Amino acid sequence: MSEPEPRSPAPGSLALVQQFINSTEMPDGADELLTGPLAAHWLRETVGADLEVSEKDRARLVATREALRDLLEAHTGENVDPAVAVRLEKLLSSAPLRPVLSAQGATLAVNCGGVDNFLGMISTAIVEATLLDTWERLKVCRSDGCRWAFYDRSKNGRSCWCSMRVCGSREKARTYRARQRAATA
Ligand SMILES: [Zn+2]
Repeated sequence: MSEPEPRSPAPGSLALVQQFINSTEMPDGADELLTGPLAAHWLRETVGADLEVSEKDRARLVATREALRDLLEAHTGENVDPAVAVRLEKLLSSAPLRPVLSAQGATLAVNCGGVDNFLGMISTAIVEATLLDTWERLKVCRSDGCRWAFYDRSKNGRSCWCSMRVCGSREKARTYRARQRAATA
């Protein structure tokens, strides 16, 4: 089997959302938000934030990350419970945003510090991606054992696996085996 096809990261600030979701490797890889100090290190490396992360804040970060991962399943055609978006809204609502105005129009800026500042950056990134029409191309791999976030740059925008050559063919082989088992049962 060849190496996974490298997919280039999501454009603009959407790359931060992607990086956030991929701060752990499912199902049992390293989790960069596993402890408060690890999460603080990750925030420093990723957005240059210098802060201590309490267990409560760490739990909020992980809950937000996993709600995002669940929500993005909709982008590969899965039925996502609307409660997931509500959960995510609640998690992100701790980070107030403020409009920044000029003659050209308005953008949103984060209006708080600490871990909330990071969560606010996630909110503004999603708003920006929605405006730029890139949001729906940020997806999580459909393989249950993977769920890696990737940006779909395919022409038709219908990719479902992080790397077609590796994950997609692995998934197909699994379906094939399951069908064969069903056929011989
Ligand atoms: Zn995958």
